[in-house]
Amino acid sequence: MPEETQARASGASDAAPTPQAPSGPGSGPRGPRGSGGPGGRGKFFRRKKVCKFCTEKIDAIPYRDVKLLQQFVAERGKIVPRRLTGVCTTHQRRLTRAIKQARNIALLPFATQH
Ligand SMILES: [Zn+2]
Repeated sequence: MPEETQARASGASDAAPTPQAPSGPGSGPRGPRGSGGPGGRGKFFRRKKVCKFCTEKIDAIPYRDVKLLQQFVAERGKIVPRRLTGVCTTHQRRLTRAIKQARNIALLPFATQH
């Protein structure tokens, strides 16, 4: 009987599904992140959002303190904007005055000559 050969198709089937699902590997959510993290977003270098002068309780900014003032002056002599330094408005104004005073007595350059 030649028709007996079809009986082996219904025997032990090895058609078990493969464990690897072909659906997209990188599309699914990989678990919730950001639980307890200190806020890791923002690629830019950001200083502490606290005013330096407030934390150190510096009321009047000494215009002679060039090292201090230079932290708030960019390389070309520009005053760094407040949003970059984190200095509060009050101290930023005092800082600006201090920097201008320091410029006037030539402690700081108006602009770096190239
Ligand atoms: Zn302040």
